[in-house]
Amino acid sequence: KKITIAIDGFSSTGKSTLAKQLAKALGYVYVDTGAMYRAIAYFSMQKGYIKTDYLDKQSLVESLPNIQLQFQFNTELGFAEMYLNGENVEKQIRTIEVSGFVSKVAEIPEVRAKLVEQQQQMGKNKGIVMDGRDIGTVVFPDAELKIYMTASAQTRAQRRYDELIQKGDQVTFEEVLRNVEERDYIDTHRSNSPLVKAEDAIEIDNSNLNREEQFELVLKLVQD
Ligand code: C5P
Repeated sequence: KKITIAIDGFSSTGKSTLAKQLAKALGYVYVDTGAMYRAIAYFSMQKGYIKTDYLDKQSLVESLPNIQLQFQFNTELGFAEMYLNGENVEKQIRTIEVSGFVSKVAEIPEVRAKLVEQQQQMGKNKGIVMDGRDIGTVVFPDAELKIYMTASAQTRAQRRYDELIQKGDQVTFEEVLRNVEERDYIDTHRSNSPLVKAEDAIEIDNSNLNREEQFELVLKLVQD
């Protein structure tokens, strides 16, 4: 029987790695909800609605009906890529610049309402693994399996730093650590669906677990 799997937690805890592995092994659909918030942040940057210390919330909210988000599966990569109004923005949404703005955009109630609705639509058919911050609490409170992932900020910053460097981004470790901590703070303190562990979620601290160990652990939970 197919189920809904909700994976929540701080940034760079390895949620997406785990979610992708699970989806592949189980033949489920994987949805990266962070990509949707990132796409809206990217859209806002392009339109000039967001700059350092400036957010034109009203213009963003007014243009929400014109933002069309879609996932399209890339068979070569083995996962779905994010499309914003028909354009593949997978690369553009992963920059440190977007990471710096995304939490501010994600605080806006109208943005959350739009995305939560779309996510619930995508999850209508069981057999889905969705990762984010509010999946087990808001999007699918009835999910059969909820995982809450944690790891120290240092560990997470190191992972994200390695990723960015590998892509050729010019960043310093301190910059990445600051971004991780800033996002943690905003994500846990916003008035709107703050990041919290769902009561019935299983917490996994993967500071000292490698990919395989973590995957085996969760796969067992799915099978139980
Ligand atoms: O998962 P990722 O780090 O790509 O998410 C980027 C940001 O999007 C998060 O820091 C958070 O502010 C926001 N987000 C959210 N709710 C989700 C997924 C992401 O608020 N379900």
